[in-house]
Amino acid sequence: MRGYLPDCDIRVPDSLAAALDLLAREPGVWTPFAGGTDLMVVYNAGRLKATRFLDLSRLSELRGIQEDETSLAFGSLTTYTEIRECRAVHQHFPNLVKSARVTGALAIQNRGTLGGNIVNASPAADTPPSLLAYGAELELVSPRGLRRVAYDRFHLGYKRMDLAADELVARIILPKPTGRSFHYFRKVGTRQAQAIAKVSLAAHARIEDGHLAALWIGLGSVAPAPVRARNAEAALIGKPLAALPIEAAREALLGDMSPIDDIRASAHYRSVVTQNVLGHMLRDLAGA
Ligand SMILES: Cc1cc2nc3c(=O)[nH]c(=O)nc-3n(C[C@H](O)[C@H](O)[C@H](O)COP(=O)(O)OP(=O)(O)OC[C@H]3O[C@@H](n4cnc5c(N)ncnc54)[C@H](O)[C@@H]3O)c2cc1C
Repeated sequence: MRGYLPDCDIRVPDSLAAALDLLAREPGVWTPFAGGTDLMVVYNAGRLKATRFLDLSRLSELRGIQEDETSLAFGSLTTYTEIRECRAVHQHFPNLVKSARVTGALAIQNRGTLGGNIVNASPAADTPPSLLAYGAELELVSPRGLRRVAYDRFHLGYKRMDLAADELVARIILPKPTGRSFHYFRKVGTRQAQAIAKVSLAAHARIEDGHLAALWIGLGSVAPAPVRARNAEAALIGKPLAALPIEAAREALLGDMSPIDDIRASAHYRSVVTQNVLGHMLRDLAGA
């Protein structure tokens, strides 16, 4: 049965302090509601158990993209359209722009938020691989104060996160790449647009003296949650671009994935295609 709106209680606080006050009084009772593009789908299908919502839309503290010398900080309510339109994001984090461009269509990009994409925690979501590849940190806020969590430690399993019931994602902080860097993003879906990823891979590398000095690889749709490809990274870091061990890295990548069969792709397809995308990324990197 579809959801029934009169059953719902929606509070619209106009400051973060008021929102945190509500969370402090009734922890776990209020479900944050950002753009609603994930929540409304579940609601409409009658599968949303929550009936009490904390609408975040008036919390100016969670909006905007702030730049300083070393980082960009995205308010959790930052939309895909805002990401696409921000010059500093294009300059420092091109993978994130590419992720935003392939997320839904314009209506979703105007309304869906970065914080919502993270906390909805779909293994197939489009921004998490890029956030992993850029070493993102999350700033979480609750009635107890602020804490920071490395994004690659945030997802604990399928839809399980290091996020307490009374915590909100406040900001997503990305350190600016330094030195000579390489960026790569690839989403494989049924179509170019409006498709859920069968697999996705984002990478960011720092190159020094013709060697791979640092490398971050984020994967989507190949595990219960978005994951770093730490085994593949370890096989590659320190190697000369002229002789990247592509076969060894493809092999190591198998240890980073635990894909499943579902309606979009088989586990076998996901493994092989992710290995192929890695190979493609490394050939691009060798020519960079
Ligand atoms: C037609 C359609 C196409 C889509 N296409 C794509 C796609 O191509 N790629 C993709 O990745 N996604 C896609 N999505 C999913 C969705 O649009 C994104 O995940 C979006 O970023 C969700 O953001 P939101 O603000 O709408 O989240 P909401 O629906 O408001 O919330 C999602 C979850 O996050 C929680 N939440 C939100 N903000 C916070 C916060 N600040 N702190 C704590 N918890 C919070 C909510 O309680 C809820 O559990 C699509 C959805 C639709 C309907």
